[in-house]
Amino acid sequence: MRENKCCFSGILLQETPVRHLSRSFANGRIAQTYLFSGKESTGRLTTALAFAALLQCREPVITGENNADACGICDSCRRIAAGSHPDVNVITPDGNEIRIDQVRAMQDAASLKPGMGRWQVFILDPAERLNVSSANSLLKILEEAPSHAVFILIARDTGSVLPTVLSRSEIVRFAVPSHHEARLAVARVAGLDEMQAAVCYGLSEGRFGQALMIAQSYHELHFPAGIRESHSDYLVQIDMLSELKQHEFAAADTCDRALRLAGQIDNAGFLPLQAARKSFCRSLFMNTGLPAAFALMFSEAFVDRLDRAASAMKKSFDPVLAEAKKAYPAALVKEIDGQLSTAVDRWSTGQIEEFFFCLTNWYADALLMACGADETLLLNLDRKDDIIILAKVEGTALLRARIEMLEKSAGLLRRYVQPLLILENLLTQIGGPEA
Ligand SMILES: [Zn+2]
Repeated sequence: MRENKCCFSGILLQETPVRHLSRSFANGRIAQTYLFSGKESTGRLTTALAFAALLQCREPVITGENNADACGICDSCRRIAAGSHPDVNVITPDGNEIRIDQVRAMQDAASLKPGMGRWQVFILDPAERLNVSSANSLLKILEEAPSHAVFILIARDTGSVLPTVLSRSEIVRFAVPSHHEARLAVARVAGLDEMQAAVCYGLSEGRFGQALMIAQSYHELHFPAGIRESHSDYLVQIDMLSELKQHEFAAADTCDRALRLAGQIDNAGFLPLQAARKSFCRSLFMNTGLPAAFALMFSEAFVDRLDRAASAMKKSFDPVLAEAKKAYPAALVKEIDGQLSTAVDRWSTGQIEEFFFCLTNWYADALLMACGADETLLLNLDRKDDIIILAKVEGTALLRARIEMLEKSAGLLRRYVQPLLILENLLTQIGGPEA
């Protein structure tokens, strides 16, 4: 029985890319550069690791001419699952971006013969976080790379890498599974019933990989009820996350470690915060007659809480930066400090984006119901009854206007308009159904 996570057999709902890669291996046609294109949480990294495992495996399992998979039990497979294979390198952003020195280190490693396996595999996740100089440096590496090197770039879409890199890449596309398929798979894998799986899937906002992780903690989930409770819980959970991260960051003993941690602040999500956000967004649209002052009051409290959480996280890097000052030139330390701050600010903006996304998904569900769609198409299937009420009260025209308004707000946020203004304006216009 193979229980290793780094096998194609463990990848769910991505038959097409898995079959494609498996067939390439079986036919001995390995491209030098792959671009795994698809939305987050569709299994791109897991598949990249499973493909790396197959390339390096001591005894790959070959069943039929187009079907190959890593064995999952050899030393090589075990090391990949443990993240300790010397010839499989995952390069993630240090701080806010994948920096040129990371790409140069990759170049040095690529020029060496593999130490343990047959290939040197480099996975860049995500490739859209390469900056201009690191992207150009990557292109040069791809042009001159030795034949034992395989590069896997993970990106949201083909437009997020340089055209010159794209033209050298074999594109492997990862589609987003339907809500229905994803829910069934979550239920099956986690041993939950369909409604329990729907709760997890709703919390992930439609991110399948994240829903699978949430499902493992299903029995710890807690949803505050009512607008007052969910409102205060939402703000409290922002502090809780910040405190957790401050501990992690303060323990960073080198700048490299600090940058890596800052680059991954929100990778795993934070379940209590997600649950609080979900409840709060739900109570927002279900609440009739919110007081007029609510929009400003909440917006101020939310932005203020995020600012404080971000400042505290940044401050927890002080010890490692103070140490760095003793060893490195001031300009370098300043640059690292800037990278850390940008990564934390990115988290902070991401929280507001996620709030918009959560609200948008509720309204999109209501619009589907208002248009008479099948309920299996809903993202928040576990809250079908609320969605039916919302659909009846608001009607298609108003729901469309709400969704447009939310998309516009997210656009303004990306253009660095003050979050407080965007939030207040948005919340003033989308209270609950009229009393
Ligand atoms: Zn193996």
